[in-house]
Amino acid sequence: MPTIAETARKVQSGEVTAESLVTDSLAKIEASKGLNAYISVLADSALERARGLDKRRMAGEKLGPLAGIPIAIKDNIVTSAGRTTCGSKILSAFKSPYDATAVELLLASGAIPVGKTNMDEFAMGSTSETSAFGAPKNPLDEGVIAGGSSGGSAVAVASGTVAASLGSDTGGSIRQPASCCGLVGVKPTYGRVSRYGLVAYASSLDQIGTFGNSVADAAYLLNSVCGWDSHDNTSAQVAVPDFTASLSKGIKGKIIGLPKECFGVGLQPEVRSAIMKALETLEKAGAVMREVSIPSFQYAVAAYYVIATAEASANLSRYDGVRYTSRSKDVKDLFGLYAKSRSEGFGEEVKKRILLGTYVLSSGFYDAYYMQAQKVRRLITDDFNKAFTACDVVVTPTMPTLPPKLGAIYSDPMAQYLGDIYTVAVNLAGLPASSQPVAKSGKLSVGLQFIGKAFGEEELLQVAAATETLCKN
Ligand code: GLN
Repeated sequence: MPTIAETARKVQSGEVTAESLVTDSLAKIEASKGLNAYISVLADSALERARGLDKRRMAGEKLGPLAGIPIAIKDNIVTSAGRTTCGSKILSAFKSPYDATAVELLLASGAIPVGKTNMDEFAMGSTSETSAFGAPKNPLDEGVIAGGSSGGSAVAVASGTVAASLGSDTGGSIRQPASCCGLVGVKPTYGRVSRYGLVAYASSLDQIGTFGNSVADAAYLLNSVCGWDSHDNTSAQVAVPDFTASLSKGIKGKIIGLPKECFGVGLQPEVRSAIMKALETLEKAGAVMREVSIPSFQYAVAAYYVIATAEASANLSRYDGVRYTSRSKDVKDLFGLYAKSRSEGFGEEVKKRILLGTYVLSSGFYDAYYMQAQKVRRLITDDFNKAFTACDVVVTPTMPTLPPKLGAIYSDPMAQYLGDIYTVAVNLAGLPASSQPVAKSGKLSVGLQFIGKAFGEEELLQVAAATETLCKN
């Protein structure tokens, strides 16, 4: 399979046209409709953009690094083309008047958005089953979850409709679907990519990132969407290196930290042995394995679900039936309008989280829950900082189990939330992390997570790329 960099070069040189790439992608989207990866297909705007690009090339213009590359975009990242639903009934007719900064950057690089992908409602979930549009199916095995919340973005790549896509990750939503669908997923450091135009779930945790078939593709796409943005005051004013520059530098001498808290109870033996086998391969190639400790890890899921729901309860208050979309009829007064529009427009998981978040922020409970969770968050950051004095990257499984069957954990919130055990601490600490396939188990894939130092994506991706080469499966 060619990398997206190679394909873009062919478009730049005129060897292939952007129009043919888009036509091919749209045909594949149509053929794989049953997987339910897309909520909207942007056929008209994509074709128009592709033709425009081909004309510009023929006129002698130099095209950008993603020239003609069809890209799928998670449906919580706003685009002026088509609608942006966030997987929710309440926004089912919402059309954004502007493009998110990440989308603007993609367009400026010559990429072509071909569709908006299916997701858990407002990115709340790990299986994509809370989508108001039905769950996407995993191309590796249609009976198991595709992972979430960016399930559609993963399925779009895994089924070959696009070579790369954008997702968002608040507590694992890129890494988990990447793991379930056998792909590479990268969640950058908090602040790396502007959140302007990413519909907010939990603003202090949300981050846009990329999916690809290889580390090279995920890193290459990331190159185009990073950087400071005056529209997002949490976006970081740090230089953006070329994330592909160190991919071939190997793993020799790199110190890999294994948190002792991450390989014990709750980890499916099959996943454990696949990860350990991969780590042995890395060790043979010259990587150094070192045990580290993140003692606060055990509190991460609890702290995450307090902080994420607290922020969500505030962020989602804007959907009031007055602005955006979906307004209830037959209401007598303003309060009734709010209550009815929200009751009808939001799904069960979203309602549950708004209630939980409102509760943990309410007077009398704030100190017991929200403040405690913030303290745990600080401890997690400190523990990671300490671990990174002894290693270059930290390794864990991405998920504690192989992807479960569709429906199996949907009705068991505890099982679902525990599935986030390896991913949420990373967002609480604001660190970059990746997931990549390292072994097969029957039709399914096992994902390994690397966690990097803040703004250490280059080193993280170097280690990930070396692992990809060494653990080809
Ligand atoms: N599974 C986590 C949640 O439901 C993370 C979701 C995400 O990263 N958007 O909150």
